[in-house]
Amino acid sequence: MTASSAPDADPVVPGRGYDGCTLCCKLLGIAELGKPKGVWCGHCDIGVGCRIYAMRPPSCGEFHCGFLTLGTLKEAWRPSKCKIVVAAEAGGRRLAAYVDPGRPDAWKAEPYYSQLKEWARLAARKRNQVVVCIGPQTIVILPDKDVDLGVVGDDEMIVMQEIPSPAGPKLEAHKVKHSDPRAAKLINPT
Ligand code: SF4
Ligand code: SF4
Repeated sequence: MTASSAPDADPVVPGRGYDGCTLCCKLLGIAELGKPKGVWCGHCDIGVGCRIYAMRPPSCGEFHCGFLTLGTLKEAWRPSKCKIVVAAEAGGRRLAAYVDPGRPDAWKAEPYYSQLKEWARLAARKRNQVVVCIGPQTIVILPDKDVDLGVVGDDEMIVMQEIPSPAGPKLEAHKVKHSDPRAAKLINPT
């Protein structure tokens, strides 16, 4: 995360670089710092790097966005240009597209929306999730619709439910409290 972390970025696809990008330091939440999603980290020198690089939290040091690690993502997905940071979460069972609140509709433009829908179709087969996060707002992308869950609290999780239909089973997305006994019967990738 941030330009300063480039030297130990082993998983980075050859030819991919940071180009002064620090966008994940705004879009992602950092639990260790209590930093919410969608606001700049106070330690970020925007467009330069991390001011506390040597002491940055583990989640920062371990993070490499999808643009850096997925060779299949085209140049259009460069975070500094598209204002979207793609991240694999929940052990690879959730693909999150973090969108800059300053450009909240960026994910609806092409080629991004079609790619999100394609990922959603692939994820549905394995009961995985594709989500768009805009600050505190989470939208679950399903093959046939987008489900705006609003704010998903720290005590909540995103679950999927298979609903029978004449055309075959369809997925629904919900948020439930971790303590909700119904959660055990639903599809929970986390
Ligand atoms: S969004 Fe990606 S390219 Fe930009 S600073 Fe974060 S890890 Fe690097
Ligand atoms: S601590 Fe550093 S790497 Fe982590 S979010 Fe803040 S500026 Fe970015």
